[in-house]
Amino acid sequence: MDISLQNVGYFYSKDTPFEKRALQGVDATIHSGSYTAIIGHTGSGKSTLLMHLNGLLKPSEGVVRIGDTTISAGTKTKGLKDVRRHVGIVFQFPEHQLFEETVVKDIMFGPMNFGVSEEEAKRRAYELITLLGLPEDVAEKSPFDLSGGQMRRVAIAGVLAFKPSVLILDEPTAGLDPRGRKEIMELFNHLHKKEDLTTILVTHSMEDAARYADNLIIMSNGTSVMTGTPEEVFADEEKLASYRLGLPRSVQFQRDFEKKIGRKLSDIALTEEQLAEFIAKAALEEGADSC
Ligand code: ADP
Repeated sequence: MDISLQNVGYFYSKDTPFEKRALQGVDATIHSGSYTAIIGHTGSGKSTLLMHLNGLLKPSEGVVRIGDTTISAGTKTKGLKDVRRHVGIVFQFPEHQLFEETVVKDIMFGPMNFGVSEEEAKRRAYELITLLGLPEDVAEKSPFDLSGGQMRRVAIAGVLAFKPSVLILDEPTAGLDPRGRKEIMELFNHLHKKEDLTTILVTHSMEDAARYADNLIIMSNGTSVMTGTPEEVFADEEKLASYRLGLPRSVQFQRDFEKKIGRKLSDIALTEEQLAEFIAKAALEEGADSC
């Protein structure tokens, strides 16, 4: 399901003395099957933007297209229920919304509310427990007896239980330790590839954006200021710096290395592994040149 935004603007508390513009002139396209990262400082409009991607907010200006549904200021909210089922959002600290007495009941709750039979909801819940790498015996435990990382997985399973075709992740690793962060990011990458899930990640981490995404949207001051592949966006270091954003560590290291050897490498290293590979190749070439 493709999603596109055309000249989208949004005001909180419109037509009141508290009116506050949060988005202005946002243009972006998210293709079906892509992995998009939305990056920007606090207050740049990321959360407001993501609530437009599943019809939770309607644009005050411009148009949002989600699959075959077109949403503008006048669109009736009633018609958007279906969109919300197809575009799942994992909000920050989703484990705060767990409430059922057992893990399996928590995961089943959403689909059953949407008319899925108890049997089918249970089948999905057990499938998701396995898919998310949770031990099977957590199913009948209280979600509140699990570790923080496990609770987060249960909450994510609750969103996946709707079988969304688009998954939006708002800072999904906030508050996790480095190992938990890596595990969760790898899990989403696996889901993205295995289930062909269109993935939209809101993040502060340039490293995660570089490693996982194939499409970037840089937000600043309520508008989309840079869009493109990671290679395109990270090629313009000066423009990024003008929005007070830096390069991912691997690209920064590559630039420093290039200054030292006095020439540019042909590709941008989006991960440490790629960086090691490119440097090894450059070293071999230097060696061959000096023979
Ligand atoms: P981010 O997610 O990048 O931190 P937000 O979308 O939360 O940015 O905020 C964009 C702008 O909208 C900010 O200026 C913020 O203060 C304002 N804003 C966010 N939520 C509300 C709200 N409920 N009411 C009024 N203004 C808001």
